[in-house]
Amino acid sequence: MIKIALVGATGIVGQQAIVSLINHPWFKITKLAASERSAGKKYRDALKDANGASKWWCPEDMPEEIAEMVVEDAALFDPTTVDMIFSTVDTSAAKELEPKYAKTTPVISTASAFRYEEDTPILIGGVNMEQAQLLDIQRKKRDWKGFIAPKSNCTISGLVVSLKPVLDKYGVKQVIMVSQQAMSGAGRTPGLSAMDMTENVVPYIPGEEPKVETEPQKILGKFVGDAIVAAPFGISATCTRVPVLDGHLVSAFVQTEKPCTPDEVKEVMKDFGREFCALALPSSPKHLIEVTDDPFRPQPRVDRERGGGMTVTVGRIRKDPLFANGIKYVCLAHNTKLGAAKGALQTAEYLAKYYLKLI
Ligand code: NAP
Repeated sequence: MIKIALVGATGIVGQQAIVSLINHPWFKITKLAASERSAGKKYRDALKDANGASKWWCPEDMPEEIAEMVVEDAALFDPTTVDMIFSTVDTSAAKELEPKYAKTTPVISTASAFRYEEDTPILIGGVNMEQAQLLDIQRKKRDWKGFIAPKSNCTISGLVVSLKPVLDKYGVKQVIMVSQQAMSGAGRTPGLSAMDMTENVVPYIPGEEPKVETEPQKILGKFVGDAIVAAPFGISATCTRVPVLDGHLVSAFVQTEKPCTPDEVKEVMKDFGREFCALALPSSPKHLIEVTDDPFRPQPRVDRERGGGMTVTVGRIRKDPLFANGIKYVCLAHNTKLGAAKGALQTAEYLAKYYLKLI
């Protein structure tokens, strides 16, 4: 078994990672770490708030073995005690911790701290795993035995997966998107206030739009020589927070280079990802995208668990009435599964098997 440390184990994404790793055929969590607030406590106690209420968030029971593990201080954690680290900490902590760990040990991260570094790919299953080659350059340049491989921002996970087949077949000139993002996307420290969110929509998410407007071009770029050349299209984003627990919904307008009909777009999306899914990684779904003809879908509550939370649901594919080569659609992705913990796990599976050759 490949020994995994989960750093940031007490957060929303950390909890989702624990659930995703239950009975995993290749990986076993052997260490848990978080901030000094949680360090030294048994995991179940570290999750208790000031009133003693548990902040365990998942519908699955907390595994007893995990509940009994003592959480270590991430700042003092010895990365050489494990084979791989899942980092699900805040970005400011990730900036400090991840390079320390990567000196000796591979780090798969859900934080944004290293996403924008030139020598760091943002890997998404089925979309750009060939960019894993950049990890060789990162390791050489930084003299690391390990590496940092970050996941993308959760809001764009559905957008990028759905854009990839369109880009490959028709080219993309520009994208305009509006997101309706779930509350779990804000994490738990401190998390969102029920007073702000109940019966309400908040039209601004600090720091989100710049990420959404730049990450997809890097992810959808080409690996040329020893660097990624970003895909040459622009994105204009408006990101909003809505009172939904899990599942980020994105309404996208895409102007393509070549003309295409909604039916053609539907077909390329439905076909997308066959080869990657055929690798049958433990966390991969049967289909990367499912397209629905029901005009009332996708809906977060109904569609977010498709493919174990790893399938993107696309609906309402239609022609834009104003712009030439304009296609509009709505896509939904589970933000803590595909967009964070389980997506990171899928990346770890791919890298363990095809890059590190540990399997
Ligand atoms: P969260 O619920 O607020 O959890 C944050 C975690 O980081 C906790 O385990 C916390 O430990 C730990 N932490 C905070 N400061 C630390 C420090 N100085 N040293 C060590 N550990 C520290 O956040 P989250 O939603 O799980 O998000 C985790 C990361 O994933 C963030 O970088 C976030 O941007 C990213 N992300 C989140 C989502 C999502 O949908 N939520 C999606 C994609 C990416 P304590 O409990 O001990 O404080």
